Amino acid sequence: MSRYTGPSCKKCRKLNQKLFLKGTKCHTNCAVDKAQRAEKEKRFSSGGRPNKMSDYGKHLREKQIARLSAQVNEAQFRRFFSKAAKDKGQTGAALLRFLEVRLDNVVRRLGFAVSLKAARQLVNHGHVCVNGRVLSIPSAMLKPGDEVGINPASQKIGETLLVKQGMEHAEKTAFRPSFLSWDAGSKKGKLVRWPDRAESSISADEQLIVEFYSK
Ligand code: SF4
Repeated sequence: MSRYTGPSCKKCRKLNQKLFLKGTKCHTNCAVDKAQRAEKEKRFSSGGRPNKMSDYGKHLREKQIARLSAQVNEAQFRRFFSKAAKDKGQTGAALLRFLEVRLDNVVRRLGFAVSLKAARQLVNHGHVCVNGRVLSIPSAMLKPGDEVGINPASQKIGETLLVKQGMEHAEKTAFRPSFLSWDAGSKKGKLVRWPDRAESSISADEQLIVEFYSK
């Protein structure tokens, strides 16, 4: 199944949920924020109630929030779910953990990119090294101890604006989750442990996702 390449905000609008797909715009000029404000005002003035959703609709919505936040297609998402189902712990928590340690997401959370899309581009173009080797698979899952940095060859030739922006942004980034460490000298980050549920960047209800696939 192909990956969705249309306007990002449309996906958030459809789910009426912020998926944070566009970097800084998501915090300053978000289409969902505006739509929710307008809807609230309309409901307040007309005294109406929000539409009720079926159980299936609720489960599907949470699955879509997680999948679209991680920007993976249905087949990939199902593969992550199957892997999580084989995990010894809770399936939903394992799913969110696996999505969180994907290479493109770690690149974003280390600050090399403002959005997942930009992080994916850095990875796809071979600008990212894991443990000293180029890894160009955005959905590759990292494990504790893996070290992530920008390919020294890409830095040396000043390769593309993308690398330059990535390095500059990482230097300015003030907040990184505690499951990642950052070495300002070498400009490399490390996955020090598996992320906790509270540290996940995906706001979906994992239990409803498990129920969606249990049907
Ligand atoms: Fe667009 Fe970001 Fe708002 Fe989603 S969260 S609607 S991607 S600005």
